[in-house]
Amino acid sequence: MCLTEPQAGSDVGASTTKAVKQGDGSYLISGEKIFITSGDHNLAENIIHLVLARTPGAPAGTKGLSLFVVPKIRVNDDGALGDANDVACSNIEEKMGIHGSPTCSLVFGANDGCQGFLLGEELQGMKLMFHMMNAARIEVGMQGCAAASGAHQQALAFAKERLQSRHWKTMKDPEAPQVAIVEHPDVRRMLLTSKAYVEAMRAILLQASYYLDLSHSTEGDEAKKYKNYVEVLTPICKAWCSEWGLQVTHTCVQVHGGYGYTKEYPAEQYMRDAEIACLYEGTNGIQALDFVARKLSLAGGQPIKELLGMAEKTFNKAKNDPELMEPAWLLAAALKQVETIAKELPKRPDGIQVMLINAVPLLDMVGTCLGAHYLLDQAMLAKTKLASILSDAGVDTDDKKAYKAFLSDNEEAAFYHNKVQTAIHFGYRALPTVPAKAAAIRSGEKAALYAIM
Ligand SMILES: Cc1cc2nc3c(=O)[nH]c(=O)nc-3n(C[C@H](O)[C@H](O)[C@H](O)COP(=O)(O)OP(=O)(O)OC[C@H]3O[C@@H](n4cnc5c(N)ncnc54)[C@H](O)[C@@H]3O)c2cc1C
Repeated sequence: MCLTEPQAGSDVGASTTKAVKQGDGSYLISGEKIFITSGDHNLAENIIHLVLARTPGAPAGTKGLSLFVVPKIRVNDDGALGDANDVACSNIEEKMGIHGSPTCSLVFGANDGCQGFLLGEELQGMKLMFHMMNAARIEVGMQGCAAASGAHQQALAFAKERLQSRHWKTMKDPEAPQVAIVEHPDVRRMLLTSKAYVEAMRAILLQASYYLDLSHSTEGDEAKKYKNYVEVLTPICKAWCSEWGLQVTHTCVQVHGGYGYTKEYPAEQYMRDAEIACLYEGTNGIQALDFVARKLSLAGGQPIKELLGMAEKTFNKAKNDPELMEPAWLLAAALKQVETIAKELPKRPDGIQVMLINAVPLLDMVGTCLGAHYLLDQAMLAKTKLASILSDAGVDTDDKKAYKAFLSDNEEAAFYHNKVQTAIHFGYRALPTVPAKAAAIRSGEKAALYAIM
């Protein structure tokens, strides 16, 4: 996908690459694109670039962009590869991470011989590019989740092997043996927080992907409803999952202590690789603006209302469970704050400024509510499954020792038990950040605009 130019990053409409129609219906492309993923490599015999460019007289901004197919090697009428097109790789970036992915600067038409072919119609470039970009945004969110999941699994394995310090129950006894660091409460907190965010991210991504499938397999109003859900969830998938993906990789470096900072373990690589997901496919700041400015009000605000309404239903079910009651009420409080802000913001005289300053925390608040909703939903299902396993095995849950021993022998039971603990942990740890962020937003604080920079 060739969008970015030196002067046109987030501001794609500032692109200046030109496309001039030729007598044979093809176009002569000229301009420079930068940061192009796999812009050049030797892994395939040809590379097909999709290039955004401006035709003569096209309007300014994104509305003036058209999309072109530009092969690296021209393709003859019989399908065989012909001469090289006039596309040159002028630079390969030295990056912080994702070293397996060549990021290239490309020069099109340095010798006036770059042939391109219009895809769709002129001036439809952004609309067409969004077909790919919307799917790619969910995939970049998945990249954040995957890096976090890999980092968590590796950190957990490390924590079970690394011996350091005594168990907290015997910490005053210098003769007591060292224990694996997974026994230390702070390390356990880091590992469970990482697990909770990974599972919340995965749930949001799978739910969005499921709606995407439903938008294809249904018709009419039904299809439109699911398409709108995907529209609302896409910036959350991209920005919430990449941001928390990065945070999890950082936490997992911390689990390793000093070893996390060395190349002896892959923890540092996960962290370096995770950062890019926050940047490309539209920075997380741009995703948040898309979310608050376009997606919250999409279709009169109905899709976001329905998505948050599902979270409310989860609260109504979970509040009756003594173990999940407290996180359920935290979810209800968080949802209330989101609803209040969505109502108040458009009515404030300084609403636009407050919205622009707070787009990122606002997206985070909604992502956190959705994450908690899915984890609580999973926890309720897990409780039913666990109860059935325990009853079949005749385990007395009041006998804590017997229950613990059973869990250490039965992987499936331990899996469901952990689902419940994960939802509780996320509820208590993540949800209280929502009212805290809401208080800052509702205060109307705008120091960032007043500070001299
Ligand atoms: C490894 C890598 C691979 C890439 N692959 C591709 C590719 O295959 N194809 C392609 O076309 N591009 C690609 N990109 C480019 C990428 O999409 C851009 O880097 C990204 O969109 C941001 O543009 P920029 O770097 O110019 O940053 P800028 O747009 O200069 O942004 C800098 C900062 O300003 C903020 N900002 C900018 N405008 C606003 C605004 N209006 N309001 C609030 N904040 C704003 C941004 O959020 C960011 O924090 C790649 C980049 C990298 C690093």
